[in-house]
Amino acid sequence: MKKLIYSLVFCSLILSCNQTEAPSASANVDPTEQEPTYSIAIHGGAGTITPDRMTPELEAEYRKTLNAALDIGEGILKEGGSSLDAVVATIEFMENSPLFNAGIGAVFTHDGRNELDASIMDGRDRNAGAVGGVTIIQNPIKAARAVMEHSPHVMLTGTGAEAFALQQGLDTVSNAYFYTEKRWNSLQRILEAEKKKTGSLAFPDSKFGTVGCAALDLNGNLAAGTSTGGMTNKRFNRIGDSPIIGAGTYADNKAAAISSTGHGEYFIRNVVAFDIVARMLYQEKSLEAASGEVIMDVLPAAGGDGGIIAVDKDGNVAMPFNTAGMYRGYSKKGGERYVGIFK
Ligand code: ASP
Repeated sequence: MKKLIYSLVFCSLILSCNQTEAPSASANVDPTEQEPTYSIAIHGGAGTITPDRMTPELEAEYRKTLNAALDIGEGILKEGGSSLDAVVATIEFMENSPLFNAGIGAVFTHDGRNELDASIMDGRDRNAGAVGGVTIIQNPIKAARAVMEHSPHVMLTGTGAEAFALQQGLDTVSNAYFYTEKRWNSLQRILEAEKKKTGSLAFPDSKFGTVGCAALDLNGNLAAGTSTGGMTNKRFNRIGDSPIIGAGTYADNKAAAISSTGHGEYFIRNVVAFDIVARMLYQEKSLEAASGEVIMDVLPAAGGDGGIIAVDKDGNVAMPFNTAGMYRGYSKKGGERYVGIFK
């Protein structure tokens, strides 16, 4: 009897060994597995941007700067750098350009100051950082990253955020550093018009130029960031959607990385960036379908204007907007590049 049991155990051992034998090399190849890829998308704000409002020289300047921004981000991704590094470097470059409403060239508040907002999100673990209403941090996107990486918080505002940035060794400047004549004149025009009307926080056309970037790196990690001066003539320490995680910025490796631009109050109320990701995760929609629904249906129905740029986990890009124009562009592995301004 014992012998019989031993031989049964022996046989089953041999059988199970055969079953767990290493699969052949060809069985190891998963046909659904993709080559590592990278993609980067940027925006420089959405609004009433039409050819008749732009000189050929200015248009060329915008296209050149958008291309230069893409070169910076793509350069990092191509070398195997992280999407976070690409997002920060690209946005920093756009903050330093007077063309956009972020960093130098930020719009003015009612009181004639520049108050800046920025945020960033890491798609690996949905860690995030943001600053709101900062006035002396040279590159707010770097402060947002510092909040994410070196504090237990997600959002810091005003003088507290500035004290933290100083502690982190970030560069600070006087508020006058952000001044441009063009933005100053916009404020003066609005203040003049406001004298005739009453109770207006901001006017149409007073809000384009915010910058944002979304990227997928060769390790499959997504990140997104956004930086802005907000809306011309804003008052009472108004903060828009750009530093609000879920509204102005969102990134989740399971779905997509997104940066928004437009009338911030509507983006906050409709949780735009997260709504797109939620439709992808819960309704299994593509990035294109989910972002199209939110930007072209949900947002206008609520009265909101603007757009988003986004990259999904497979490197697909979407850039829907419901305004006349949006400064935008993307680059993908393999040399595909696009830069656009008008519809
Ligand atoms: N969304 C920004 C804000 O409301 C403005 C913009 O995107 O241009 O502060």
